[in-house]
Amino acid sequence: MSVVCLTEVRKEYPGGVAALRGVDLTVERGELLAIVGPSGSGKSTLLHIVGTLDSPTAGSVTIAGHHTGALSDRRLSALRAQHIGFVFQAFHLFAGVSARDNVAEGLLYTGLPRAERRRRATAALERVGLGDRLGHRPHELSGGQKQRVAIARAIVGEPDLLLADEPTGALDSVSGENVLELLHELHREGATIAVITHDREVAATLPRQVRLHDGLIVEDIRRDAAGVGVGGTGGAERPVHGTTATGRRGETP
Ligand code: ADP
Repeated sequence: MSVVCLTEVRKEYPGGVAALRGVDLTVERGELLAIVGPSGSGKSTLLHIVGTLDSPTAGSVTIAGHHTGALSDRRLSALRAQHIGFVFQAFHLFAGVSARDNVAEGLLYTGLPRAERRRRATAALERVGLGDRLGHRPHELSGGQKQRVAIARAIVGEPDLLLADEPTGALDSVSGENVLELLHELHREGATIAVITHDREVAATLPRQVRLHDGLIVEDIRRDAAGVGVGGTGGAERPVHGTTATGRRGETP
């Protein structure tokens, strides 16, 4: 079962702007992909639709097997809480709240007791390398650490899909590389991750690149596992026509 399946998705905003003009996109379990394109190409619109934060004007959206068009707002929120983790450029952590409680907040919807939420939050922070920063509040953390807390919050509920919107956009280059490496690590552990970015260098490190232009997917490239992390100049690229090529489960080290 695909994690994301969009068919002929269109989005028109009031005033007649066609932000997406017929997008087909399939993401298989275990993929790590970049959604790239210049400003105005439709990346944010696509992120909102895949994240079920907005609905398309036409076309179908299926997330983790759930056809979203048929769901009420309440059930959409539940689907989002259970299946999708979000990471944003600006972290969106609660000020004055410890890293552990920020992460535990990602489990509020589960109804788990507070002690269990905190236990899982601790484990998630350990997973992102912040086991020694549990009690630190956001202002006591570096930008890269804040983003790792945000990633821990996004994965603590073990979502089917991690959606990261310009996750390195607010970071210096070293912190940005660390965050990217963490995403690669989570991918190696089996996570399905879509990174929205306008940064070609960031995109080049990822095994699949979906390029948007004027509301259409104009390119969808996968690299062989051997090319992962080497910057995409090794000639291992091959274009994928259409967007339903099979996933790369099991092919990464
Ligand atoms: P990107 O994230 O690639 O910069 P967007 O998805 O934000 O692209 O925008 C795609 C197009 O849709 C742009 O032309 C933008 O001006 C337009 N657009 C985005 N959001 C709205 C909105 N809420 N109302 C009207 N037009 C919008």
